[in-house]
Amino acid sequence: MQDNKALALENALKSTESLLDMLESVVRKDFSPKSESKTDYSNAVNKVLVPEPEVQVQPEPVKKVEDSRLSMTLEQLFEDCKSCSRCTLCKTRKNVVFGYGCTDRPSVLVVGEGPGATEDETGSPFVGRAGQYLDNWLKSISLSREENVYITNTVKCRPPENRDPLPEEKSACFAYLKKQIEIVNPQAILCLGRPASTLLTGQDDAPIAKLHGRFFFYEGIPMMCTYHPAAVLRNQELRRPVWEDLQKLANYLGLVINRRR
Ligand code: URA
Repeated sequence: MQDNKALALENALKSTESLLDMLESVVRKDFSPKSESKTDYSNAVNKVLVPEPEVQVQPEPVKKVEDSRLSMTLEQLFEDCKSCSRCTLCKTRKNVVFGYGCTDRPSVLVVGEGPGATEDETGSPFVGRAGQYLDNWLKSISLSREENVYITNTVKCRPPENRDPLPEEKSACFAYLKKQIEIVNPQAILCLGRPASTLLTGQDDAPIAKLHGRFFFYEGIPMMCTYHPAAVLRNQELRRPVWEDLQKLANYLGLVINRRR
């Protein structure tokens, strides 16, 4: 009886030992070379708990090389502009007057001086008397702000008392105008008045009388300068030179010239 018990115990121990062997071979499988020899189980726990790290080659993260400014939309630029405080004009503005018209490769992008009182009230460029006059000019060469013209200004906030924008105000705002031109991508640019004409030709000291009626290039885009409609409303003698300038622009773009305004 005693012998039977001892035998059963011995068999149980052997089974346990072989089970432990199997278990060891499973847990060691990837961490150490297999050995036929009897095992020292005291190390097994450490080897299970502290496996060697797997060496994994991580793929290089894809770098975003896109310039965020290039993919900016006109709406995003407008949002930026609304909270702009790059110059002191932000302190007195009621509205930022950003731009209006055809934003998808218009025939002409018109650059005025800066918003007046009505523009500041409404947030739209050239909506006062000078704006109505400008619409007549555009119509005379088959253009309209509803169809093929985008209108903006050198500065997007009204200069107090309708004074000319100061050089530092124009340069503070220039980043917006540059970006607008880049996004809208016009076929030609029409500068109205001296502030716009000197800014975009880079001829800071030139009088408008020297700049008007000539073609320039801004970033490869053909550009015509002429007098500002407000100046023509004050001085009717400027009507003829403006009409000649507009006809040159129309001929360049292949536009139908309708009639003298
Ligand atoms: N004059 C300008 O130069 N711009 C306007 O938006 C209105 C009047």
